[in-house]
Amino acid sequence: MSHNILIVAEHDGSTLSVATAKCVACAATVPDAHITIAVCAADASAVAAQAAALAGVERVLTLEHPLHAHPLAAAIAPQIAALAGPYSHVFGPSSTFGKDLMPRIAALLDTAQVSDIMAVESATRFRRPIYAGNAIITVEVLEGAKVVGTVRTASYQAAGAGGRAAIESADPGVEPPAHTRFVSVSTAGGDRPDLQTAAKVLSGGRALGSAESFQILYRLADKLGAAVGASRAAVDAGYAPNELQVGQTGKIIAPELYIAIGISGAIQHLTGIKDARTIVAINKDPEAPIFEVADIGLVGDLFEIVPQIEQLIG
Ligand SMILES: Cc1cc2nc3c(=O)[nH]c(=O)nc-3n(C[C@H](O)[C@H](O)[C@H](O)COP(=O)(O)OP(=O)(O)OC[C@H]3O[C@@H](n4cnc5c(N)ncnc54)[C@H](O)[C@@H]3O)c2cc1C
Repeated sequence: MSHNILIVAEHDGSTLSVATAKCVACAATVPDAHITIAVCAADASAVAAQAAALAGVERVLTLEHPLHAHPLAAAIAPQIAALAGPYSHVFGPSSTFGKDLMPRIAALLDTAQVSDIMAVESATRFRRPIYAGNAIITVEVLEGAKVVGTVRTASYQAAGAGGRAAIESADPGVEPPAHTRFVSVSTAGGDRPDLQTAAKVLSGGRALGSAESFQILYRLADKLGAAVGASRAAVDAGYAPNELQVGQTGKIIAPELYIAIGISGAIQHLTGIKDARTIVAINKDPEAPIFEVADIGLVGDLFEIVPQIEQLIG
């Protein structure tokens, strides 16, 4: 039996997020999948072209409306729900965007959401982490029910290029509701790469001791072209802003390189980084649990080691 899968594109108006390419990789593991990407935007042309070029995508639907100039879940959800009829699955990334949007779509379609899909066992059976990643549960959607799911992007490699999907304009037949308006967005970190998608991340912990000391991490991060993250202890102490928190109650990330600086390696922190390719730890305590998961460990005082690394990089 073939399965028509609709993926809601995450983008910033001009660039398709890598999270969407990861949703495509997940959708492609559903047996006999036929993948469509829906792009809601004020002007969808650039993003639709990128979506159409992803390997495995058969169709791209554009839903253009001035209200979609900024991604508003309240505006997008009813339009996607109205389009969902012919699809057996509706997927989105398990990012801030997807976590905001997909439950609304599930509610409108009167179905339960499958969250954080990390593996597809069949068209209706999925694996997902529970208890902060300490256990994996297999969940099954009742036969015949539409599957609305968020994809744990850290579990998938992005789908590659090579697709030549048809791009069509779609009319869902419903206007997006105007009761929710975009007012403003404020982002921290300026030109630094986005923590959730960066290839390199450098995180600081309680050991930094102050917001001023965190500056040494920002300097090194800028030299490395890395994003900056933080442990919850560092965030709670006010050394780093909330949105930098990595871990169970922060961001789940999967960079190529993760450098943990003055972080002990509590299980709730490790949950956020267990899919990182290479983990480097700098800690003055050789018994710190972070060294159990680190590929490279440096035992010593971060206030000596970090400036030395910075100097070596030049
Ligand atoms: C429900 C729940 C959810 C949580 N969610 C998260 C989460 O999302 N993310 C998260 O990070 N935590 C989370 N936590 C908190 C977690 O349990 C830890 O308390 C926290 O991760 C510790 O942060 P830390 O490693 O910075 O601090 P610490 O555990 O205090 O570690 C500091 C480390 O720095 C080292 N150090 C000290 N001075 C130096 C120096 N000069 N040079 C080098 N190393 C030095 C020490 O040896 C130590 O290992 C959660 C906890 C709970 C209960």
